[in-house]
Amino acid sequence: MTRILLVEDEENYREPLALNLRRDGFKVVEARDGAAAMERFEGAGAPGGTGPIDLVLLDLMLPRMSGAEVCRRIRRTSRVPVIMLTARDAEMDKIAGLELGADDYITKPYSYRELVARVHAVLRRTADGRPEEPVLTAGRVTMDVGRHEVSVDGQVVPMPKREFELLELFLRHPDHVLTRGQIIERLWGANYVGDTKTLDVHVKRIRAKIEADPSSPKLLTTVRGVGYRLVTAD
Ligand code: CA
Repeated sequence: MTRILLVEDEENYREPLALNLRRDGFKVVEARDGAAAMERFEGAGAPGGTGPIDLVLLDLMLPRMSGAEVCRRIRRTSRVPVIMLTARDAEMDKIAGLELGADDYITKPYSYRELVARVHAVLRRTADGRPEEPVLTAGRVTMDVGRHEVSVDGQVVPMPKREFELLELFLRHPDHVLTRGQIIERLWGANYVGDTKTLDVHVKRIRAKIEADPSSPKLLTTVRGVGYRLVTAD
């Protein structure tokens, strides 16, 4: 589901817009000022967050931090599409918005149809230039690598970075025995000198999330004295 961060301080714009977008199948995260927008943007992409934002609808005139500043800060770390919502006839706003790295702008008052058409156009345009990240599956587990999202039986489960990387490694090598040495080298680097029990702790945590019965794992299995194997074949 496409996640839109909607940043707009005026309720009479924000509320109906959020309602319409949700009705059209978008997931909408709302923020009513610039500082809240940055918190939501960063929080959504962090481990345990709702998942990365796919598009930002950004009002220019905002309390606490201007839309221009929000756009500038987002662009420091992200190429996420940004559509600026600008005041009527504010030609300077449009130019400023595009210079700041916005992908498009729309002038108030706008029709909902016009806005949603721009949203789809920008999403199409930006999707073309992006490398396809795979969706990996094994049994009841699905990993959307691009979105950094793991689902078990269709339910999203939060997964911290290391666990995610470890599970990704198994999903990319299904039915192969991965030795403890190989796994540690891939995840922590060849010069890792820490406690190798760390690996078992991560495996245990992953099992608690993906196995029907974590005490008798059927998916992420132990190969005694060697390592682990993710079993996808029957
Ligand atoms: Ca405003």
